[in-house]
Amino acid sequence: MELKDIITYLREYDGEPLTFMEVCGTHTASISENGIPSLLSDKIKLISGPGCPVCVTASSYIDRLCDLALEPNTCVVTFGDLIRVPGSKTSLQEIKGDGGNIKIVYSPFEIIDLAKEDNDTTFVFAAVGFETTTPIYALLVDKIISESINNIKLLTALKTMPKAIEVLCEMGKKIDGFIAPGHVSVITGANIFKPLAEKFQLPFVVSGFKGEELLATIYALTKLKGQGKVLNLYKSVVNDEGNVKANELVNKYFEPYKASWRGIGEIDGSGMALKSEYHIYDAGSLNLALDKLRNKACRCKEVITGFTSPNECPLFKKVCTPLNPQGACMVSNEGSCFHYFINNRG
Ligand code: SF4
Repeated sequence: MELKDIITYLREYDGEPLTFMEVCGTHTASISENGIPSLLSDKIKLISGPGCPVCVTASSYIDRLCDLALEPNTCVVTFGDLIRVPGSKTSLQEIKGDGGNIKIVYSPFEIIDLAKEDNDTTFVFAAVGFETTTPIYALLVDKIISESINNIKLLTALKTMPKAIEVLCEMGKKIDGFIAPGHVSVITGANIFKPLAEKFQLPFVVSGFKGEELLATIYALTKLKGQGKVLNLYKSVVNDEGNVKANELVNKYFEPYKASWRGIGEIDGSGMALKSEYHIYDAGSLNLALDKLRNKACRCKEVITGFTSPNECPLFKKVCTPLNPQGACMVSNEGSCFHYFINNRG
């Protein structure tokens, strides 16, 4: 089917109201940047799920990073997107202003040179992400061990998607299908979504990130309504079984654990933590306090589970802006509140 016919179909769709969820922050960004909601009939609604890694990182994790940054002879190493995320009391940015030792890098492997240049400091990498990034951290641990480096640790908040989607499906929100995450599927394979599709009798369509790929995915979802099937429309990079070598490396160093999700709470088996024999490289990832929101009016929980649109949050645009974020969804460039704000939706 040609793109113009897909657009016409989606614009003129007049069947049963349908709600589809994307569970990948990059899809959230692409949907917004391509103006896809404006191309759809009022009867097709897109909602965002918990696919932005920064958005689902528990406040207690940020609190722990802040504490570490203030410890003597300790340096927190992180990507820039975590720096403004609020913990329960403060953020890394505020701590940096108070003398906290924080370095922003563009690759986790930069920590190796930092550690070699300063043996008296323990460098802690803020390892946040989904299945896509966990292999990179497994490779980092592999390198740390093979080079006998003793002053690097990881504080991990590594999540896995299937358990979170399962919890979402059990929350009772009407969802008619999922735009399955493209990057995650490269590692896990498309088949990872089969048990969920069959259990909830919902279609999962693995999608690329271009506007036309997303439109084809939404079209496919309308046609697969009520069917517990997985369709892979991103075959150029996603296969059924995933990246076997990357998964072997991950399973060498990490194992599933009960991870804490911002606003949602703990979900059994929804994260990957270093195995006990490698805890020497861990900076306290398993002993975090319970998640607490800094601003109790923030509705990130409802936003990342699709129960609320960002513009329905009472703080949206009034108190919460990208320059004054009250929740993680307004910080990350994959967060749905951020995209609603910059694309002037709502
Ligand atoms: Fe939280 Fe801000 Fe989004 Fe409201 S607009 S849910 S306060 S991040």
